[in-house]
Amino acid sequence: MNNLELPTEKDPDITSTDETSILVVIVDTNPGQKMLRENPNVLTHVVDSVIGFANSHLMQKAPNKLAIMACHSKTSKFIYPGSTKPLDIRQIDGQYEAFTSVEKTTKQNLSSLLNTENSTIATESLLAGAMAMALCFIAKTQRTKPPGAKINCRMLVVTGSGDSASQYMNYMNVFFTAQKQNTVIDVCALDQHLSLLQQGCDITNGLYLKVPQLQGLLQYLLWVFLPEPPVREKLVLPPPVKVDYRAACFCHRELIDIGFVCSVCLSIFCKFCPICTTCHTVFKIPGPLAAVKPKKKKMKI
Ligand SMILES: [Zn+2]
Ligand SMILES: [Zn+2]
Repeated sequence: MNNLELPTEKDPDITSTDETSILVVIVDTNPGQKMLRENPNVLTHVVDSVIGFANSHLMQKAPNKLAIMACHSKTSKFIYPGSTKPLDIRQIDGQYEAFTSVEKTTKQNLSSLLNTENSTIATESLLAGAMAMALCFIAKTQRTKPPGAKINCRMLVVTGSGDSASQYMNYMNVFFTAQKQNTVIDVCALDQHLSLLQQGCDITNGLYLKVPQLQGLLQYLLWVFLPEPPVREKLVLPPPVKVDYRAACFCHRELIDIGFVCSVCLSIFCKFCPICTTCHTVFKIPGPLAAVKPKKKKMKI
């Protein structure tokens, strides 16, 4: 009798090994991006590709979860699932209603965001803030998961902005939190190489890709970023590029190879700084080397 009872005890384990996947896509919609200033229509192409990619993610497994965020110059917002009440969706051309819902909600929330935040001043996108919000969303979803369930969490950043060292600290906090939370950070660079975000991908075992041709964006997204991280090692993906691990100095926010590091708080400076601007520790100004030499001679005698 005992033997017969064993399989029923194991049954819950069998169902709980079903892995689901949360994907948060962060789309940079800042009109100040170089590629959007040159051709504003690119945004439509990018958003359409992201929606196609997001629907493919939902198509892979029924319990898969999705969120799409718009990252702007002044604010970051979840555009799917939005805060507004769900739209009245009817089947169009035989398309699955959930996909229509993703497309319509995303486009409606994005257009309302673009209308309210229509600033012409070119400021940098708040990517680090948007990534922190995505981490909060993932943490919240993980807390409500059924016990024993395994969830693969990842976020994909799609941006044409340049890398800004002014958000260096925020980026590093996000990267190490993501690493601790087992969240993979993938980055799809549309226009410029992003050395700081590339570090984030490397820290969290994510993938970094600078898209060679914007026309084929959807194809790159589906090929590189759609497979879940555990599957990726079995696929032939673009070879990893060498990661630029330079840090930004805290005084000028510029990337440096060699610098001074505060021994108390590990702040980085490009020049010697007698008082650390972060933790206010006072350092002695290093004296001339000549003064040290005679002492050594005395020791020898
Ligand atoms: Zn500096
Ligand atoms: Zn310090």
